[in-house]
Order: sequence, then structure tokens, then C-alpha cells
Amino acid sequence: MQPLYIQNSLTRKKERFTPLSPPYVGMYVCGPTVYSNVHLGNVRTFLTFDIVYRYLTFLGYQVRYVRNITDVGHLTGDSDDGEDKIGKKARLENLEPMEIVQKYTNDFHDVMRIFNMKSPSIEPSATGHIVEQIQMIQDIIERGYGYESNGSVYFSVRKFSEDFPYGELSGRRIDDLLSNTRSLDGQNEKNDPLDFALWKKADASHLMKWPSPWSEGFPGWHLECSVMSTKYLGKTFDIHGGGMDLKFPHHECEIAQNIGAHGGERPVNYWMHGNMLTVNGRKMAKSEGNGFTPDELVTGNHPLLERGYSPMTVRFFMLQGHYASTLDFSNEALQAAEKGLERLMTAIVKLSDLPLSVEGMDDTQIPKLMERCAQAMGDDFNTPILIGVLFDGVKLINNIVSGKVTISAPQRQQLQEGLEGYVLDVLGLEVENKASQNGGDEDALMGLLVDLRGKAKDNKDWATADTIRDTLGALGITIMDGKDGSSWKKD
Ligand code: AMP
Ligand code: ZN
Repeated sequence: MQPLYIQNSLTRKKERFTPLSPPYVGMYVCGPTVYSNVHLGNVRTFLTFDIVYRYLTFLGYQVRYVRNITDVGHLTGDSDDGEDKIGKKARLENLEPMEIVQKYTNDFHDVMRIFNMKSPSIEPSATGHIVEQIQMIQDIIERGYGYESNGSVYFSVRKFSEDFPYGELSGRRIDDLLSNTRSLDGQNEKNDPLDFALWKKADASHLMKWPSPWSEGFPGWHLECSVMSTKYLGKTFDIHGGGMDLKFPHHECEIAQNIGAHGGERPVNYWMHGNMLTVNGRKMAKSEGNGFTPDELVTGNHPLLERGYSPMTVRFFMLQGHYASTLDFSNEALQAAEKGLERLMTAIVKLSDLPLSVEGMDDTQIPKLMERCAQAMGDDFNTPILIGVLFDGVKLINNIVSGKVTISAPQRQQLQEGLEGYVLDVLGLEVENKASQNGGDEDALMGLLVDLRGKAKDNKDWATADTIRDTLGALGITIMDGKDGSSWKKD
């Protein structure tokens, strides 16, 4: 199998990827907290792991890809205080917390679909694993790393760090952490400021709570990922991913919980972290007001957007940066990506009817091109380098079309299979339906309508869904509902 090197966030080294039990690979990715619409920053991280999943599959691995839905326990405060984000939204909108969860999970799935992201193999939710979370807390307490205080349970970081290293992933030293933490005021339930919650006793106003041996309450945010990764992938598995901002405290706490519950085994062999999407150098985030949603992106309806851009343009724009580097959003970069994508996809479409000749080109040329593609992806999923190589492929195609280079029938098959594999399967780029002369406006609008109809259907709003379909039908446009979502065509 083609060698693959992964930059491991834990060891800070680029390491040759060797799965625990090939051809099987276990991969866990922290999913969204479903209390509001996902923004483009979130999309970047999920795209990073879509590429990892696609490439592992492309190499022939059988990947079990687990991506969770956080639907409880993520609090508004940055420590273990504050309101549950989902509970808060439910209170403000006067809805059941599970209505909020459903609404934003549906939105998340719509977004994943329009960006052509592959579905995970398992998408477990935190609320669906309360029993297992209680069990893991019991295991941690039994091994001496957790303690109960006033109905809540905390993880004792200091006790853990006496037996195992703590802070390896984020490079934090326990003494530095301590000197940067406020001392406890005596009112606090924790024994130590570094400790974090495994279970929180709920107060009377708290909406989402479950019985447990300690109190009616809810699990701490970090616990769900330890529990669900262990349940579906085992005590030690291959790859764990998430955005860079999750390294600390989330992933550091996950490691401590797993080792605290199961003993000394390292839970994850390769930790991978995707870097942030920024706007004018600042992280895109809901709290910054600079995080626009994919709907706004397609319509251009946001102060930061000069106009709308198609989902594939955005996908291509993001893939032009390496996942480990920050990527700054700009209209200029998106407009350049739109042109680049157009050039690439036009060439790909031409592949099937390239003029053939008996002679053909030097037989080593196409394998060399493909080898460069494999090297780029094998070097820590380097999509910008891959795109550079693919543009050499575009040049070659254009030279064949203009007659400067000749290609034989077997060579054409080799080129077509090779390039389509990287463009369509690995990078997940699709030919978009577009009236390209008008800059993709029609495509963007149609994408929006198809998306709105999908949402109406999800909400069982059949009247709206049918109105959209029938009105478009009268204009000679058919919406087709396929296995992988809806698409459209002109009659
Ligand atoms: P959340 O819904 O906030 O839990 O975030 C879901 C995922 O999106 C996490 O893996 C985050 O690390 C990631 N994320 C959040 N903001 C950004 C950003 N600006 N750029 C890239 N990834 C992000
Ligand atoms: Zn997680």
C-alpha cells in the first residue's frame, strides 16, 4: 500500500501511518455542538477529516469513521460553570431541548451534504450514551482519579499526574497550569482548580438531567468523546481528530479520562488537529459575529461577502490551503478559487473525449504524474501540493486538445481514471450545474432552493416542498431526489 505520513499532534512528529489492525482503521472526530447553525469555520474542520476519510478509503483501508453530535453538557462558561448551550437556546426559544438538537442536527446534515462531505459510519450522540458515561465515571472513581463533591463528580488532575503524564498533547506543564489558575475561594466544590467535571448536579432550572448514583444531573462535556470512542473503536484506536481549539482542555481531558478509566494504555495512536479559518486574521466564531452560514455564503447575504459563491468553490478554496495552516477568508481568494476550479473541472470533463492517436506519449509520463499525486497526499494529506500537480494534468490535457501532445487509448484510460480518482474521490469535487457565464449565480440560487426544499421536507412541511418543486417544474427545471441528496436539471 502507498505509504502515508501523518503529522501526529501528540508526538509532534511526522510518522508513517500504521493502523492497529489493517485493513481496518478506526477514526473518531469531534462533531458539532448542535445549538446553532454551523459556520464556515466548522465546515473547514469537517472538510479536513472528510479528506482524511476519503484518502484512507482511496488507499484501500476500511475505515470506521465515528463523528459525534454534542447534544448536552457543553456549557456557556469556559470552565465547569454556566448554562448548557442547548438548554439556554431552548429556554430562549421556548422549545424542548431536543427540538433544538433536532433542528440544528438537520441543519448540520444539510450543510455537510451541500459541501459533498461523506457521512460518518456512526454518528452517536451524547444523550444517547448517558448510561455508558455513568459507567466510565464509576471506573474513574474506582481507580482513584475521581471524587464526588456535593452531588457532582470531578476528575483529580493532580492525582492522575502523579501516575501518568498530563498535558502531553497540548504541551502544558502541570506547574505552569497551576500558577495560571485562580486559587479556589473555599466555596468551590473542586479540591483543586485544575480538576474538571465528570458529572454535574443540576439545579432546579436545568432542563436536561438524568438520575445517577451521585445526583440528578448531566455529564461533563469532555466525557462523551472518551465514552463513545471507546465504545465504537476500542480502548486504543488509530486516529482522533478535531479543530486545533479542542486540543486543550477537551482532548487533554479525554486522554486523562481514558487512561484514568482503563489504565495506562494510550487511547489514540495519531492525534490530528485542523487549523482555524480566520477572517482578517481573527478566528471565525459565532461569538465574533464573523461566522457566516453556508446559506449566507451561497446567497452572498452577509456584510463580509461581495457576492455569493458555490459550495464547490468554497471546498476548492479551503483545499488550496494545508489543513495544518490557518486559512484566511477573503473575497479575492474565493474569486480566484472559482476560476481555478472552473479550469480544473473543464479539463476533467474533456477527459472522456480527448482526441486519440496510435502513437501516444512517452509511457512513463502519466504514471509519473500519478506518483506525484500520491506523494502529495501521502505527505500528511497535502492538498495544495496535490492541486498543483493536478494543474500540471490540466496543462497536459490542454496540450492534447491542441494537438501538441498525443495520447493513445490505453493512456487516456489511465489518465482519466487517475485524475478522476484524485479530483472526484479524494478531493470530493463535483461538477456543478451552472450557467457559468453569469458567474454561477443561477447555480447558487438553485443550490439554495434545493436546500430550502430539503429543509422543508425534513420539517415535514410538504406544502412548501411541493410548491418549490412544482414552481420549478413549470419553469422546466426538475429536482431529483437521490440517495446522496437532491440535485436539479433543466429539461
Ligand atoms: P463546535 O460546534 O463549536 O463544537 O465546533 C465544531 C468543530 O469546528 C470543532 O472541531 C472546532 O474545533 C471547529 N471549529 C470551530 N471554529 C473553527 C474555525 N474558525 N476554523 C476551523 N474550525 C473551527
Ligand atoms: Zn470531542
